[in-house]
Amino acid sequence: MSINIAIDGPAGAGKSTIAKKLAKELAFIYVDTGAMYRAIALYLLRNGMEKEDAQTIAKCCSKIDVGIQYQNGEQCVMLNGENVNSFIRTEDVSRVTSKISVYPQVRAKLSDLQQKVARDNDVIMDGRDIGTCVLPHAQVKIYLTASVSARAKRRYEELRARGEEPELAQIEADIKERDDRDMHREIAPLKKAEDAVLIDSSEMSIREVVTAILELLKKNGIKRKGVSVAKFAGFCFGVKRAVNKVYEHADIQNRPIYTYGPIIHNEEVVRDLEAKGVMVVDSYEQLASLPKGIVIIRSHGVPKEVYDQITQAGFEIEDATCPFVLKIHQIVQDFSKDGYEIVIIGNSTHPEVEGIKGWCDPQHTTVISQKEDAEKYIPKQGKSVCIVSQTTFNYKKFQELVEIIRKKGYINDIRVLNTICNATEERQNEAEDLAKTSDAMIVIGGKSSSNTQKLYEICKEKCKNTYYIQTVADLDLSQTGHIDNVGITAGASTPKNIIEEVQKYVRTKL
Ligand code: C5P
Repeated sequence: MSINIAIDGPAGAGKSTIAKKLAKELAFIYVDTGAMYRAIALYLLRNGMEKEDAQTIAKCCSKIDVGIQYQNGEQCVMLNGENVNSFIRTEDVSRVTSKISVYPQVRAKLSDLQQKVARDNDVIMDGRDIGTCVLPHAQVKIYLTASVSARAKRRYEELRARGEEPELAQIEADIKERDDRDMHREIAPLKKAEDAVLIDSSEMSIREVVTAILELLKKNGIKRKGVSVAKFAGFCFGVKRAVNKVYEHADIQNRPIYTYGPIIHNEEVVRDLEAKGVMVVDSYEQLASLPKGIVIIRSHGVPKEVYDQITQAGFEIEDATCPFVLKIHQIVQDFSKDGYEIVIIGNSTHPEVEGIKGWCDPQHTTVISQKEDAEKYIPKQGKSVCIVSQTTFNYKKFQELVEIIRKKGYINDIRVLNTICNATEERQNEAEDLAKTSDAMIVIGGKSSSNTQKLYEICKEKCKNTYYIQTVADLDLSQTGHIDNVGITAGASTPKNIIEEVQKYVRTKL
């Protein structure tokens, strides 16, 4: 038996965007029923019949052949054999569609077609009457709505992004009118099926709605199958840039090449570079005794004094510090000069944090990594405080710690600079979503990689079958029991080939 998921709701609630994403995740067919009504309206407009009465239109229905086909996963609405996708989104078509969709013959014709598609395929179908009339036995029904003002605002932003200058009040009025017509027509009015789950997306992002529905489907035994690798798994921009720089120098090989600390927290990559003649040095003392060459500063960055020492010792510097970290160095240096106390929210022993500390006044700098540190923190009475974060810190935890500091009434001026980079936030959000909807979750990364450890914490909270591995050799899925799907994510210092190896291996186990 095929699986049917019905999504109903008013215009502008995000039904089609969300249904498309869900269909992709689940490898179901997405059926946009509104497009079918639009195709009939287009036929009437093209033949000058849009003003005809209900009976004339009913008679003409037999001449209209509407069908759907899929090209590259995209639904194409066929009107008498022609793909009319690019003609059905005009204002004229919308107006006529709304009028003719109340006619029983039009509805009967399209409901038949929709039911047939749903009988033969696993579908996610969206429209106005899917859960109530077309697929009353759908396994899961969702009524997706949002307030008129939220929907109008979204439409307004959409039109602005296209270079138009719409009027928000007019958009609101149009939406209200359309809702009214769809909800109060005699046949198949838009309403929530009794057994549908209501989701109000007014305050939710698309990602949040998709995840909420996937969780709901999982509870109903409808799951993604197979292995899903997070889009943002692996090297981030800064790490990719740093590793590439080292490989570029290693390829030329005309002088000794050193990296100041391992270029990334990944033993595999470090070993590969060592084999190419790149030496890791851990301190200035060690470097001073070595033949002169080029020293590559890794993406984590280093304290100011390290630059000075390396240059004074006669070595050349290739600075591969991540530009986002360099920005933090600049911020703390400037605020320190202006007399601010600096608070770095991060792990005090992490090289990035040690590097940041090296650009501040040590007497007036505090590293805070947990609630207790924030509670104990006493800035100098009346002093101004500048708070920055390690780029890979967890955003929610950062907010929590900042709030504790904010509550200390005696601070003069508090500047909070969220210096967590987007890559980390996106990676964490995506990993959390994937973990929520996966039977097992694999997090790949070096043992000492703090961003991988954080990914693991986030995933473990949402999926108890979460595994932290360095390479495929560490993976043991024997205790997992039956699983249908596995999510994979990886820290910022995990190379692509390691992720691919794990993915390949897990595929063979499912
Ligand atoms: O979803 P979309 O905005 O493309 O739908 C266009 C119009 O088609 C809706 O405003 C509604 O009047 C009609 N429709 C319908 N029943 C459906 C889908 C759409 O009446 N299942």
